Amino acid sequence: MSVAENAKLIRNRIAEACDRSGRNANEVKLIAVTKYVSDQTTREALEAGIRHIGENRLVGFLNKRKKFNEQAIWHFIGTLQSRKVKEVIDDIDYLHSLDRLSLAKEIEKRAEHRVQCLVQVNVSGEGSKHGVAENEAVSFIEKLADFKSIEVVGLMTMAPHITDKAAIRSVFRRLRLLAETVSGKNWAHAPCKELSMGMSNDYEIAVEEGATFVRIGTSLVGKEL
Ligand SMILES: *Cc1c(COP(=O)(O)O)cnc(C)c1O
Repeated sequence: MSVAENAKLIRNRIAEACDRSGRNANEVKLIAVTKYVSDQTTREALEAGIRHIGENRLVGFLNKRKKFNEQAIWHFIGTLQSRKVKEVIDDIDYLHSLDRLSLAKEIEKRAEHRVQCLVQVNVSGEGSKHGVAENEAVSFIEKLADFKSIEVVGLMTMAPHITDKAAIRSVFRRLRLLAETVSGKNWAHAPCKELSMGMSNDYEIAVEEGATFVRIGTSLVGKEL
C-alpha cells in the first residue's frame, strides 16, 4: 500500500478509537517516524497531508529537516546525547526524550529559544528503556522550573514489546494519570497537556487512553533503510 493509503487507514482507526473513548479525533496528532525511510518516502508522507515528522537520530533528523524544513513540525524522539545538544536543539520543535537534569542543563546553556519538551517516563520499568522512573517523574519535573529554556508540554513513554493488551493499556493509563497529576500542580513551566504514546503495534490502545501524539513508523511509511 502507498503511504497515502496507510495514512488514511491509520486516521480511520484513530477516529474509531476516539469514538470508542468519547474523544475528538482532532486531539490526536499523527507523527510519521521516518527513521527507516528515504527522502522520497518522507515526501510522500508530506504529500499525504502529514504535518509532523519524527526522527530518533541526529544525522537523520538534521538531513530531513534541511530538506523539508518549513513543510513540517519536527519531533526528536530518540535519546539525545548532551554533547550533541548544541548541534540540533534550535531545530527541534518538540523534544520527546527529556529524561535527566544533565540534559536539561545543556539545553539551558545552548538553546536560543524555549524548547517544547516531553519528559520521557519509563512506566514499564524495563531496564532496557530510557526515561525517568515513574515514581520520580513529578519531582524531576518540579526541578525543571529552574530552566527558563524548557517548557514541559507533556509526557512520553514506550510500551513494552509484548502481546498482553491489558498490560500495554495499563502503561498508557499510568502515563495519563501521571500527566494529570503534573498538570494539576498548575506549574507555569509544565502545562503537561500532551501525551506522546503509541507506535505501529499499539497506537489504538494509546488513543483510547488519551494519546495526543502517536509516533508511527513501520505501518505508515514502512521500513526501507
Ligand atoms: C522507531 C520509533 C517509533 C516508531 O516505531 P514503529 O513501531 O515503527 O511504528 C516510535 N517511537 C520511537 C521513540 C521510535 O524510536
